[in-house]
Amino acid sequence: MAIATINPATGVTEREFEAHTEEEVDTCIGEAVAAFEALRTSTFAERAAWMHKAADLLDADVEEAALMLTTEMGKTLAQARAEVHKSAKTMRFYADNAEAFLQGRTIEEPSRMNASGAYTRYEAIGPVLAVMPWNYPIWQVIRFAAPALMAGNTGLLKHASNVPQAALYLDTLFERGGFPTGSFRALLIPAARVERVVRDPRVVAATLTGSEPAGRSLASIAGSEVKHVVLELGGSDPFIVLPSADLEAAVATAVTSRTTNNGQACINAKRFIVHEQVHDQFVARFTEAMAALRVGDPTAETTDVGPLATSSGRDDLVELVDDAVAKGATATTGGTVPSGDGWFYPPTVITGVTPSMRLYAEEAFGPVATVFKVSGVEEALAVANDTTFGLSSAVWTNDSAEEEAVIDGLVAGAVFVNGMSISYPELPFGGTKDSGIGRELSVEGIREFVSLKSVWRA
Ligand code: NAP
Repeated sequence: MAIATINPATGVTEREFEAHTEEEVDTCIGEAVAAFEALRTSTFAERAAWMHKAADLLDADVEEAALMLTTEMGKTLAQARAEVHKSAKTMRFYADNAEAFLQGRTIEEPSRMNASGAYTRYEAIGPVLAVMPWNYPIWQVIRFAAPALMAGNTGLLKHASNVPQAALYLDTLFERGGFPTGSFRALLIPAARVERVVRDPRVVAATLTGSEPAGRSLASIAGSEVKHVVLELGGSDPFIVLPSADLEAAVATAVTSRTTNNGQACINAKRFIVHEQVHDQFVARFTEAMAALRVGDPTAETTDVGPLATSSGRDDLVELVDDAVAKGATATTGGTVPSGDGWFYPPTVITGVTPSMRLYAEEAFGPVATVFKVSGVEEALAVANDTTFGLSSAVWTNDSAEEEAVIDGLVAGAVFVNGMSISYPELPFGGTKDSGIGRELSVEGIREFVSLKSVWRA
């Protein structure tokens, strides 16, 4: 894939970039190693000051950065601005909390080990590679970079090939805040050149946010090098609606949860599993609300849903929907590609999906919702868990026993009750099953890329 900014709203290539040469990659890794020596010996207070400054710069850049995101991957300007501010907030969160999150502990009763004292401490490990997706070009990177740099590590970014301007913006952000030169470097390389970076002995660990095949590939390479990985992969999140739910709120949230980021978030709700008592009402209202969304120019403040980020992404979505409809499913709204430029796809609701259809098992990365009718909690859980993914989930109910049963029965990294799945800096984020390994955000996120040292004293 070319490393280029191709505006998804027009299909026009706006800027192309030369990939870094092997020598340039080598220089970046060397800089990250040198910066690590400076960072690991810096204090939390120094790093916090640099991180706060970088967060202020990011906030101040909001209009320019938001337009860059909209131009590169098509999200609406309002959502792009929100991404920028959320990223700055998360930088401040780690600036303020990293030291407390990385406190070791005193081991109780050291005399049982013939010791006068024993304790643990967390230590930074070195340059970490982050392979990142295009769907939240700043946020996905910040949620890796903020904890990594606050822990004293350095970062190497291989960003998605369609968001090179975001990569280059992030390449300088931390240095502008005061971090030592080389603390965070963007490598402009295609996916095929990731292996050489993972195998570089100077690179100590890797993380990937993206598709399952990419995650499997990176993990197998890192595994053969005995390097730690964190994987944040796909999801096909269930959104369960039970009879006691506030249906109006559930429908409004279902629309937002399916169409945020033009339907291209790993934690968008994708499968709506609705009790038969409220199913028909839900489908009617959901269909009406999805059909009413304004699709169009993502720079227009009135637009709800912009284009998909890539033409291949739209092709994949079209194939999934066409396959389902050909096998007997119904599109109650949407389901056809509009004419004109850009990679637009309408908000779509599909009913009658069966396991013979690809849409049943595969992740729909765009504004396409599937609705299933179930007879009770047990069947809802069976449908919800009948997937290889296990990222997040939501349940709508006002019955506490049902709520407990669903929280207990869902195989997922998170359950949101009467709300939509969102990432917060305070809440650990990650998946089970094929949705990933490890956690980002919160205290757990910063502890992924540190080494725990045990100290025993005679
Ligand atoms: P993708 O193709 O896997 O791309 C993600 C990143 O991985 C890009 O930088 C890509 O580089 C790189 N890449 C692709 N194949 C690779 C390989 N074999 N080895 C190393 N790197 C490789 O993912 P996508 O389709 O663009 O993104 C959408 C997917 O990401 C969805 O499944 C979504 O659910 C998932 N996602 C998950 C989370 C989460 O937190 N769990 C968050 C966001 C998105 P190129 O661009 O150069 O190909």
